[in-house]
Amino acid sequence: MARYTGPVCRLCRREGLKLYLKGARCDGPKCPIVQRAPAKNFPPGQHGQRRTRRPSEFGLQLREKQKVRRFYGVMETQFRKHFVEAERRGGVTGDNLLQILETRLDNVVYRLGFADSRKQARQLVRHGHFVVNGRKTNIPSYIVKPNDVVAVRPESRRREYFRDFTEVLNTRQAPQWLSLSPGELSGKVLNLPGRDQIEVPLFNEALIVEHYSR
Ligand code: SF4
Repeated sequence: MARYTGPVCRLCRREGLKLYLKGARCDGPKCPIVQRAPAKNFPPGQHGQRRTRRPSEFGLQLREKQKVRRFYGVMETQFRKHFVEAERRGGVTGDNLLQILETRLDNVVYRLGFADSRKQARQLVRHGHFVVNGRKTNIPSYIVKPNDVVAVRPESRRREYFRDFTEVLNTRQAPQWLSLSPGELSGKVLNLPGRDQIEVPLFNEALIVEHYSR
């Protein structure tokens, strides 16, 4: 299963906004997006400063797609699969796409507070530390459904990372569509998140739909 392993802060600099890819560090003063003066917040790379042309329509659509894809830490092939599924579901494709991305198992683990970043959540899932409805599930792209219960695998609770994790979870808050049980190291999916329940930076999903409909 492919994943991006390169430097991540440059992804935020490329998109010109905080994508929160490094966990706790993203809220600190060391975040390059915060640290750099606005005039120095240009895209990375040798020619980053020189890119002053107005982006084309295609360029705008591409950037929006890359922004969302990088925010959720999904590679292009997987992202396209999610888009095809979003189209198949009917209704507003952009909303469906965000809903699918939001209900990926790695994102649910992150939203419940078991990890500081989606990258870390993905690794915890890949290493088999979670069960969904009692069954070990190590596929980050697994899509959860309403009433699914995501919990730390009993064998993993003895691990140092999860020891005393109830106290950590007590300080965290799950979104409205999830319910967290810190004492049981688990969380339940109450409903599929509507667009207004999905907390993301300013995304224009319509541009992504236009990008893939070219
Ligand atoms: Fe780096 Fe996080 Fe800041 Fe992005 S938000 S630039 S990942 S520290």
